[in-house]
Amino acid sequence: MSDAKTTTELTDEFLLGNYGRFPVAFSRGQGGYIFDEEGNKFLDFATGIAVCALGHCPPVMQKALTEQGGKLIHCSNLYQIREQAELGRFVVERMMERPGKVFFCNSGAEANDGLIKLARKRAYDKFGAETTKRDIVTCRQSFHGRTLGGIAATGQEKVKVGFDPLLPGFLHVPFNDPAALREAVSENTAAILFEPIQGEGGINTATVEFMAMADRLREQFDLLLMFDEVQCGSGRTGDWCGWRTLFEHTDIMVEPDAVSWAKGFGGGFPIGSFWASDDCAGSLGPGTHGSTFGGTPLGSAVSLAVLEEIERCGALENVKRQEARIREAVSSWNCPLVESLRGVGLLLGFVLNTDEMANVPGFSDSGQTPALFVVNEVMKQHMLTVPAGADVVRWLPRLDVPDAEIDEALTIFREVLEGLVSR
Ligand SMILES: *Cc1c(COP(=O)(O)O)cnc(C)c1O
Repeated sequence: MSDAKTTTELTDEFLLGNYGRFPVAFSRGQGGYIFDEEGNKFLDFATGIAVCALGHCPPVMQKALTEQGGKLIHCSNLYQIREQAELGRFVVERMMERPGKVFFCNSGAEANDGLIKLARKRAYDKFGAETTKRDIVTCRQSFHGRTLGGIAATGQEKVKVGFDPLLPGFLHVPFNDPAALREAVSENTAAILFEPIQGEGGINTATVEFMAMADRLREQFDLLLMFDEVQCGSGRTGDWCGWRTLFEHTDIMVEPDAVSWAKGFGGGFPIGSFWASDDCAGSLGPGTHGSTFGGTPLGSAVSLAVLEEIERCGALENVKRQEARIREAVSSWNCPLVESLRGVGLLLGFVLNTDEMANVPGFSDSGQTPALFVVNEVMKQHMLTVPAGADVVRWLPRLDVPDAEIDEALTIFREVLEGLVSR
């Protein structure tokens, strides 16, 4: 590099200090691997936090970027946009397989803000301007993004501190507590919003009982059931719709009124989205909502190319197959640091045993959470993972990850964990 300053120096000098960044800068990626500025190669099981659904710089994305990039990059939503409409059709026909309408934005938080507006406007339209039906019930340990709407919806104190006054009208209930949900919902509830599989909160999977209760309350109180699939959607569970995987071996199904997506939805291109059923989508009519960059020709073409490739290359089936391979391998480990493996598809969390962690030399003095400590140790062996809460290490490989990369990850991860115990 010609610049005399290192990336770390430039970062410290010019960038807002809002991120706790690892001291590494990546400059190149290919498939399941990412390379730092010194050329060191890392197996990437972080994928930009479930973003790079097909790994780094997949040919289909390069092709869509260059082809659409040479045709039309941006066009206002004042006009019709073919690529956006095609992407909307894919969401309705291929992902949801249910009629409805789709909106495009640029991030997960924005998509959730859209859901919040949808729920309030729909109650206003249906019950009148004087309605008290404005509350949205969400879950503890949830994560819905960093906008003012997102932090109000998020059921974690740490994202809210210092930002009062928050957007009012949010109630948080313990995740997977049907009785608490029943207790919190009233005539004033406009919507229930939760992640079918909580990501940031530690990889917690909604129980069928909890989802069924949400469904019953929807009927009883005429409210919207909305799923935040920003992290667990777009194929991460091995199905287009994360919640449907949770009902796979049951004879019931719960379907939401609205769903949000981002992260893997664009495979690395920044795009967010939500779908709303035909029953409620009409509430966001002309002039009620919008986004300058939402669903540009370029973003839409790239996202569509990614989603079509996920289907074409069999990535959904691969997710389920690799999950089974991982579970089988891990079940034969005799590794005291790992308490359990949880999650769905390739949204997996290794739950660390905190008692055992306390005995690991260097851990107590590190000042780090167990998850962060392990992520750092694994990174020293050139593999990227992500903490999920204090005690869970997340694996988020690309959806088309081949056997060899899973095997490599299993070897590295196991060796690191066993090494921590014996050192
Ligand atoms: C990451 C995430 C968000 C926020 O998405 P951004 O694109 O960072 O705004 C919202 N909900 C869930 C479940 C997420 O995992």
